[in-house]
Amino acid sequence: MQAAPLLPDEANLAPEQRLLRVHELLLQHFGRPPLRQPLDPLTQLIASLLSTQIRSGQAQHVMRDLRRHYANWEDLRDAPIEEIVRVVMAIPSPEVMASRLKLVLLQITARYGSLTLEFLARYKTGKVREWLESFEGVGPQISAAVVNFSTLRRRALCVDADHLRVTQRLALTPRADAGVTEQRLMRIIPESWDAVRLEEHHELVKLHGQTLCMFAQPQCAICPLLRLCPFGNRRMRAEG
Ligand code: SF4
Repeated sequence: MQAAPLLPDEANLAPEQRLLRVHELLLQHFGRPPLRQPLDPLTQLIASLLSTQIRSGQAQHVMRDLRRHYANWEDLRDAPIEEIVRVVMAIPSPEVMASRLKLVLLQITARYGSLTLEFLARYKTGKVREWLESFEGVGPQISAAVVNFSTLRRRALCVDADHLRVTQRLALTPRADAGVTEQRLMRIIPESWDAVRLEEHHELVKLHGQTLCMFAQPQCAICPLLRLCPFGNRRMRAEG
């Protein structure tokens, strides 16, 4: 596919309009991405913790192994660390992940009295995220994934490493960490976008980051977003 030329009217669009255009162009390029079947919040938290260290496809495999091995999450919580390490061996630092999973499950039980996150449905979104982020290893990326992807289905944008890189290259918001970037993106995202639309946006940007706008050797020459992308245009000019 030939890249579209840089159009002055698009290069000068306001950030809100550029973000809408990015979404539209990615939809045209990739089609509507399949959205996940929402999990209960606790299962989504476990899945999101796994996803911090490996790609989501591999994380799904580890999740499947955990489900096969443990009849319920109480069994995972109560299992010896060495056993959990063996089940999550596909993760680069299985000891760290096994300890983190066990610790979070123990802490939720200690704080709430039982191992569930269903009660979060009664809280406002800000309080849910604050509660989740009070656990070690749970930052804005994971709390956004839990409130947006799970059955809680709230408005939040999961800014993972792929999303952050693409957003920064497109200069949609000033450079910042994932948490601040999410806040800034949410200010330019239409209020009419519901939780499902936000998940769709995340999936499109992530897919783009994994297939065209990779960390090394982004495919700017064939990128559908080139005409909106300062980084890509600088790179193309430098390459002549
Ligand atoms: S033009 Fe290049 S840097 Fe910009 S979004 Fe596309 S692949 Fe990424």
